[in-house]
Amino acid sequence: MLKIIRITVWRLELALAKPYFLSGGRLRVDSLDATYVRLDTDEGLSGWGEGTPWGHTYVPAHGPGIRAGIETMAPSILGQDPCKPGVVERAMNLCLPGHLYAKGPVIMAVLDLASQISGLAMTGLIGGAFPGSTPVASSISTDTPQGMLANIQSYRERGYHAHSVKVGSDIEGDIARIRHLETHRRPDELIFYDVNRAWTRSQAISVMNAVSDLQVVFEQPCETLDDCLAVRRLTRQPISIDERLDTLADMTRIAVEGIGEIVNIKLNRVGGLLNAARIRDLALANGMKIAVMATGGSVLADTEAAILAQTIPPEHRFATWACQDMITVDPAPGQGSRSVDGTLTAPGQSGLGITPDRERLGEPVAFYEG
Ligand code: MG
Repeated sequence: MLKIIRITVWRLELALAKPYFLSGGRLRVDSLDATYVRLDTDEGLSGWGEGTPWGHTYVPAHGPGIRAGIETMAPSILGQDPCKPGVVERAMNLCLPGHLYAKGPVIMAVLDLASQISGLAMTGLIGGAFPGSTPVASSISTDTPQGMLANIQSYRERGYHAHSVKVGSDIEGDIARIRHLETHRRPDELIFYDVNRAWTRSQAISVMNAVSDLQVVFEQPCETLDDCLAVRRLTRQPISIDERLDTLADMTRIAVEGIGEIVNIKLNRVGGLLNAARIRDLALANGMKIAVMATGGSVLADTEAAILAQTIPPEHRFATWACQDMITVDPAPGQGSRSVDGTLTAPGQSGLGITPDRERLGEPVAFYEG
């Protein structure tokens, strides 16, 4: 049996190209705290993982918490067979309940190893790849309607056809943003309006009904699933659930109660590819569309998202996102899934196919053996 004998952890600060505002401007992000994990086996193979929350104000996920979680879970990971990812996941769950975001990078690295050992592509470990590439959605920070359109235009020039537009400010301002951008939306473009939980129930109902003549998607209009359900009952446009989808129980509730028609699976938030694949299957069984995104991070996290997106039938794929386009640091130049003409495709070969540049990572911050 192959064994994981060493865990090495690095920390890297990923500066954004420009400050980023969402949720009506109440959340500002300047840089991301990224954790990279390498698992080594007794036969000399290495698997890589990344965990990068979108700052620490966005969802309950904390960069230093990933590293603290790995320290706590290290004894439950060491000695495990990487060809049994579910067994490793269960060992981590028994060692540290919850803290899904700390487990995501470990699961990525375990699946990287399992893929290299089996010769199957990573998509093959979670159901297999469907054809086609996934449209990458730009991420349009809250601004004036004109400023947001100019930002969309800059992405159009790079081949983007999908745009995640951040709203969630005052009612009149948001209505003006949506009207302006829909007036200038190209026929082949997908624009969805991401509120990032900012609206109250009454604000959501007011804005969505004020633009009920437009068939546009609203993402995570309010804070909780209860809020979104209340909004669902009094509005008509499709709703996508993002920040309040963490667990299989959340996904079950969203599907059974009809809270949304689309879900956005953020891989780090749901604890990595295994949980994400289970959530995907529940969403598919309930006829929903699925967006897949890294929570943040570099090309490793984007490649993980591309892998899950590739396993979704094309008619159910909504969009993905490439954080690599927003950061100024690239730990693995030229490697992994890259945003090409506004699309992302999973690697076809076995393994994640990424070995970060050690000089760019610097010295490890932790090291566990056993
Ligand atoms: Mg979102």
